[in-house]
Amino acid sequence: MPKEFSIIEKYFKKQIKNVPLGIGDDGALIEKDKQTYYVISQDTLNEGTHFFANHNPRRLGWKTLAVNVSDICAMGGTPRYVLLSLSIRDTNDSWLNEFSKGFFACAKKYGVQLIGGDTSKGKKSFSITIVGEVKKNDVLRRDSAKFDEDIWVTGEIGLAALGLSQQMKKISLKGQVHTKALSAIEMPKPIKVNMQEIAPFFSSAIDISDGLIPDLQHILNQSKVGATINCIDIPVPSWIKKNNAYDLALYGGEDYQLILTSQKRNREKIIKVAKKNNLKLSVIGTTTKSKHLELFDADNNLVKKLKKGFTHFG
Ligand code: ADP
Ligand code: MG
Repeated sequence: MPKEFSIIEKYFKKQIKNVPLGIGDDGALIEKDKQTYYVISQDTLNEGTHFFANHNPRRLGWKTLAVNVSDICAMGGTPRYVLLSLSIRDTNDSWLNEFSKGFFACAKKYGVQLIGGDTSKGKKSFSITIVGEVKKNDVLRRDSAKFDEDIWVTGEIGLAALGLSQQMKKISLKGQVHTKALSAIEMPKPIKVNMQEIAPFFSSAIDISDGLIPDLQHILNQSKVGATINCIDIPVPSWIKKNNAYDLALYGGEDYQLILTSQKRNREKIIKVAKKNNLKLSVIGTTTKSKHLELFDADNNLVKKLKKGFTHFG
């Protein structure tokens, strides 16, 4: 288990009362009314860990909010309110102007209102507490997948990792893929759909922050099922396909797309509702009774050893 999760388990996970869902999922649930929960989550971006010092401020403001919106989508919910904690070294007007523009552009797109926060001096760090709403029947947890379900992903996977490789000058992309990959890492775009139309067809979900494989493992471990995944079914940028660089999609992370599972009989209905919501959804495998994850590479060979995705503290 990555270190950050064992820290949470060892020091912070305690018995709680009157909370339908606490630590362990993309968001916690609190009763709102008979039909509805509030869904609450928090995510932080730290300079040097989550972004480079030269990250375009407008895109950084966008990303700070977008990564939080993503967790609400992953719970089947609709984002509503946020609190923003801002830690900055100095008061640079043009930087703040750009950062806030990006932040509010994202807020407008996803229908979120900023209702509070905190501002202090320190190394650049941006933390958001986000509150959304979800109908009780729509909740998508990590521990509710069953075996023999379709495993889906939204959007394209691996673009953000491609963008990170470009930022780190490990690769040199050109043209459209260069623009798309940088945009994916610098200003990720969680799905923009009516989750109340989408969620009822699915049984579980998580968003991809650490990597497709490690994030899928959270669903599998918590739901006590296994899975078979075929690389060729993963919707990846053509650069990844051409260069057989599937590891970027498998372990790269930061895509802020969703992994979802659904009963197979829902497949046709899902294709229809996805089309209506202009949502790209692809089946990448099946959940299984065995508790293992079987991954087949692009040549259809079983991958013997799965790698790790992003972890804090190594
Ligand atoms: P995500 O990747 O969806 O942002 P994380 O991997 O950061 O989620 O966290 C996993 C779970 O642990 C979440 O339910 C989160 O709320 C909880 N968590 C993380 N850090 C802490 C902490 N310091 N105290 C209590 N709960 C925490
Ligand atoms: Mg998450």
